[in-house]
Amino acid sequence: MSATNSAIERLLSSVQYLKGVGPRSAPRLQRLGTPRVIDLLWHLPYALIDRRQMPQIGDLSRFAGQTVTLDVMIAEHRLPLRRGLPFKAVGRDKTGTLDIVYFGGRAGIWQKSLPIAANKIISGKIDYFAGRAQMVHPDYVADPGDLTHIRQAEPYYPLTDGVSNKYLRQILTQALPTLPNLPEWLDKTLLQSTNWPSWQAAIQAVHAPKREEDLQPTNLARVRLAYDEILSHQLALALLRQSLVPAVTTRRPARQRDLRELFIKNLPFALTEAQKTCLREIDQDMQASQPMLRLLQGDVGSGKTVVAVASLLNAIERGQQAALMAPTEILARQHEKTLSPWLEAIGLRVATLTGRDKGKARQNLLRDLRAGQIDLLIGTHALIEDGVKFQNLGAVAIDEQHRFGVEQRLRLSHKGGEPDLLVMTATPIPRSLYLALYGDLATSRVSGKPPGRQPIDTRTIAIDRLDEVIEGLKRAINEGQQVYWVCPLVHESELSDLAAAEARYAELKQIFGTQIGILHGQQTAKVKDAAMQDFIAGKTRIMISTTVIEVGVDVPNATIMVIDHAERFGLAQLHQLRGRVGRSDKKSSCILLYSYALSSVAKSRLQIMRETEDGFLIAEEDLKLRGAGEILGKRQSGLPGFRLADFQAHQDLFKTAQRDVQHIMHQDPYLLSERGHNLRLLLRMFGRENAAWYVQSG
Ligand code: ADP
Ligand code: MG
Repeated sequence: MSATNSAIERLLSSVQYLKGVGPRSAPRLQRLGTPRVIDLLWHLPYALIDRRQMPQIGDLSRFAGQTVTLDVMIAEHRLPLRRGLPFKAVGRDKTGTLDIVYFGGRAGIWQKSLPIAANKIISGKIDYFAGRAQMVHPDYVADPGDLTHIRQAEPYYPLTDGVSNKYLRQILTQALPTLPNLPEWLDKTLLQSTNWPSWQAAIQAVHAPKREEDLQPTNLARVRLAYDEILSHQLALALLRQSLVPAVTTRRPARQRDLRELFIKNLPFALTEAQKTCLREIDQDMQASQPMLRLLQGDVGSGKTVVAVASLLNAIERGQQAALMAPTEILARQHEKTLSPWLEAIGLRVATLTGRDKGKARQNLLRDLRAGQIDLLIGTHALIEDGVKFQNLGAVAIDEQHRFGVEQRLRLSHKGGEPDLLVMTATPIPRSLYLALYGDLATSRVSGKPPGRQPIDTRTIAIDRLDEVIEGLKRAINEGQQVYWVCPLVHESELSDLAAAEARYAELKQIFGTQIGILHGQQTAKVKDAAMQDFIAGKTRIMISTTVIEVGVDVPNATIMVIDHAERFGLAQLHQLRGRVGRSDKKSSCILLYSYALSSVAKSRLQIMRETEDGFLIAEEDLKLRGAGEILGKRQSGLPGFRLADFQAHQDLFKTAQRDVQHIMHQDPYLLSERGHNLRLLLRMFGRENAAWYVQSG
């Protein structure tokens, strides 16, 4: 038992404790979504790279976008003339030349690894830039003798800034052989009838694909892991329900009935019918004898925030406190800025708490909170930290929640009382999936958009017409407009998101000078904020960024969204990104820049983007297209909380899990049997330990 325990602790510990992972790479792995060892094991390859293709340089035009291995002689070095420009080496064979390109780093290092006149084997993805073949950051640079070692199929993983495929493979190779054999949490009969492998065998298999079929969601090892995930999700949901059933809350009578009415009356706009309907549904819950647990769905920009705040006012009218939780610092500050004037105008005391508030100010705030001197607390996850105590917390709204708030719900209910909870999500969930994901959890939808919004003019433009796009932007900027320019997820070479953004930034800076800013995940919070502030203040007119702007940023004056290599994004993500413009009464547009050789699925995605702005429709279409078999590099299902399960391919698993959970809740609702204990382990692995903990405490 204790051997198992320590094996489990190792799986749940930070990747930093793995061999080959240092303090520098740990944060990068965290950004990849793999902070713990177990997360890394669940990080599945999505492609097999075939380095067996060895064309001549003269034939490369047929290999654009593909990975090849080349035998070249280094003919020339081109040093960067300025910071921000890349180092290039020219490689040559009998049939032609290509550029080998490196961004960042010190040119001296590249010069050394590719000395003039040396023969080298290079392997990586072929791109075209200004009509010339290039290989940006080759995956391998080796001497001709290493050829056989390089030329084999290898699993390819979703990557991020500073995490290369080579590196991921290296640490996985260290970790996989020492994988523990965990006690089985799945039902024995189910395992036998399905022929699924054990957890240990499944993990090993998914990281050693040999054929394309091994990458498909129908691969037995993948199915088993997906089932683990679905089961943990549904079990946590069932445990949560169980914990809520006996919870009866005593509703106090309202003391100040007119607060909410006044708030709504003072708003600079009238609520839409959809908003009013949501409020009515919420009001019913908030008068019931059980605490509310409701999902508020609505597209980006649909106006969920005022609905949430109006709901929170129900609690404040009863003399209780309320909290609004945002996923990021930027968003929390933004809420503070727009909401406090409205709330202070009706005599409420509003405060904001984030991880950045420290020292005396924080202590004073916490004291006021405990004393009931604050009516509404806005903040980030800092709100559910241990030191934060309310005098009387009545209602909570959680904004843009990526994951169903099981844990938050439990943590909040232990802050005293049984607060009503509204979970907001901007991820439109297709109706066909809702049941599988949330069972019969109550939901309200803010459909449509507030009145007065103009449709976003969406166009697809081939990347070789970049010059025209730039001319258009110059005109728009002169007219006072502002532009987001989002750089792609890069997943087929080791050029990272960041390098792509920096390269574009360097290029456009030559044209736009100080009018251009850059925002990416590796900046410190301070630098990020400053970049954002410059953009909000209009000091910069173009904001180049990686996908960090995806979540909720609101700059109404930004009316143009350029998405670089749009074919590399999933539909849900394109939709989220486009939602950053069209936030005022001004005409907005979205330019989807694509490169050649679009797959048919990519083509359909871009077409859907042109045709509709309805997030729910887009989600349905996304589901269909994903069913059509394209596996995207990064997690782009657009559906919260799942990384292993595929909604289309694993539909049956949801049904099986529903039956399984019913059985568990009937036989062993407190998870006390042997299987019950193993299921607790499963919950812990998926970060649902609070659900397990709740069971433990009765
Ligand atoms: P989201 O649902 O993405 O959180 P927000 O709540 O941020 O959307 O609303 C987007 C914008 O629309 C905000 O500026 C908000 O003040 C405004 N808004 C909300 N409701 C209405 C309405 N009924 N009429 C006009 N504007 C509205
Ligand atoms: Mg919002």
